[in-house]
Amino acid sequence: MAKDELWHGIPRKDIPWFPTVDPEACIGCTLCFLTCGRGVYDMEGNKSVVVNPYNCMVGCSTCATVCPTQAIAFPDRELIWKLEREHKIFGIVRKESAEKKAKLDALKARAAAEDAIAKLVTRVKFEVAGEFDDKNLLGQMQELVENRPYDFVNVDLKTPTVKGTMEKTPSFMSFEVTSTEQADIQEFLPEVRDLVRRNGLVLVSESKL
Ligand code: SF4
Ligand code: SF4
Repeated sequence: MAKDELWHGIPRKDIPWFPTVDPEACIGCTLCFLTCGRGVYDMEGNKSVVVNPYNCMVGCSTCATVCPTQAIAFPDRELIWKLEREHKIFGIVRKESAEKKAKLDALKARAAAEDAIAKLVTRVKFEVAGEFDDKNLLGQMQELVENRPYDFVNVDLKTPTVKGTMEKTPSFMSFEVTSTEQADIQEFLPEVRDLVRRNGLVLVSESKL
């Protein structure tokens, strides 16, 4: 514990709230040593000893509650209530609580914003196969995005031969659907699927990038 640590404005060293262990009653089960997350205890041989009393959290008595032999004692809780009254700590407590609440709200807002960004879909890759002969698919794609905040990029048509294409040899095409405003494109995707379907093409895959 830092030398000048305060408990809601009261120097922690002025608050005699910490456990004392009755060595006669202690059976060395180590539960208090294990339970306390503040390093208050150590085990010496088969006995528990308090080594950092002022690390104890004011008001906590968990170790005494779990001790199987009731070897751990604490001062009367009236001691804490008296200090609260004498030092009029509740102005400080409210201020600290308001800061805690603001921090929690900021964390929640950040988590919600990160969640919304994670759900945003701004680029989707399509792979389609079929006959591309005289469909003028590029023209239809142009029409679909005209005056709208979408675009088709990385359009890649793989066709075995030009003559083969005219003779209805199946080809393979991939393209990506994007937003020109970095906005969500999910509403637009059904129209793209419909374009594929209307042209008798097979949708091989659709993946979010
Ligand atoms: S929990 Fe009780 S009996 Fe167990 S080590 Fe601690 S003081 Fe001793
Ligand atoms: S009362 Fe809580 S903080 Fe204090 S020694 Fe026990 S377990 Fe640790």
